[in-house]
Formats: sequence, C-alpha cells, structure tokens
Amino acid sequence: MIHELPNLPYALDALEPYLSKKTFEFHYGKHHQAYVTNLNNLIVGTKFENASLDTIVKEAEGGIFNNGAQIWNHTFYFLQFSSSPKLTPTGDLAKAIDVTFGSLPEFKEQFNKACATLFGSGWAWLAKSTDGKLEIIQESNAGNPLRRGYTPLLTCDVWEHAYYLDQQNRRPDYIQAFWNVVDWKVIEGRF
Ligand code: MN
Repeated sequence: MIHELPNLPYALDALEPYLSKKTFEFHYGKHHQAYVTNLNNLIVGTKFENASLDTIVKEAEGGIFNNGAQIWNHTFYFLQFSSSPKLTPTGDLAKAIDVTFGSLPEFKEQFNKACATLFGSGWAWLAKSTDGKLEIIQESNAGNPLRRGYTPLLTCDVWEHAYYLDQQNRRPDYIQAFWNVVDWKVIEGRF
C-alpha cells in the first residue's frame, strides 16, 4: 500500500505562538513527508509492501521500522493538537491520572521530566498497559510502546527538529509551549 502524509485538522500557523508555522513547514512538510517517501521506497518487494502502518510498527526492523514508526508517531503527535484545545482532562482519564500520578500537575511534572531527561532523540509517551494502568514511557529514536502491547495516549516529540526553530536548545521551554496546544478531548478519545 502507498502511505500518505495525513492532512492536518488545522492551518500551519494555527498553533502560534507555541508551535510556529515555520516549525510546521519543516517538521510536518519536510521531516514527516520524508519518512513517508522513504517508507514507500523501502517496502517495495518486501513482506511489508501491503502491510498496515500498525503492523510495520509492531513487526518491522531497521529502516522500515524507523520510517514507519516515525510516520505513526508524527501523525499521532500532530493530531493531538488544537488551536482551541480542552486544557484539562475530565471523566475516566482524569480519574486514572489522579489515581496513578496524584494530580494533573504531578503527572505533567513527571512527563516533563521524562521529556527533559531523554538523552538524544526520541519520544516521551503516556500509555496504557495491557492491564489498564497508565505509565510514562521514554523511547529513543523512533520507539513506540505499541510494539510492546501498550495503547499510546499522548506523546511529545523531543527530537531537536521538533523545537529548534522556535526554542533552539531550550527543550524545557518547548515542553511548556507543548501543553498549550494539547487537546485533552483527543487524549480522552484514545483512552
Ligand atoms: Mn519529529
């Protein structure tokens, strides 16, 4: 199957000043697109030629995994944002966050720490384990907890290309900006 760059449900400048149009032009328009182009080239003649992206993330190795998972991760990341986000969770997800982490601010503090301390390139995740428990997970490079049976709920891309144009080397400032555009309505829908 041919993999495609997903459409975004907002304009490239819709998340300013937190994530700039310039960042979207590169992060979505160049990096995300490059993973799509690379994957389409790499799968030709392999057993993943007609595989779904989920199957590639769960089963592939090497370049096919790296590019496939980067498509999956970026789509999941970009689709959790809104220019008019619901800024706090409610209902069952809010209860689960309180039970696991104590409160939303305490969850954010732990998640921020996972983002800040992830060495090099990777992704921080909030994910649900097979027994329904919430966990914060750090993954290097293209890593995705789906590969180990988790249900991903929320992710922060901490590759430098995600923030260098807006916050340069200040990853913690990017994480603060990130929370202003995360739409908890989307995260609740994934829970
Ligand atoms: Mn990225």
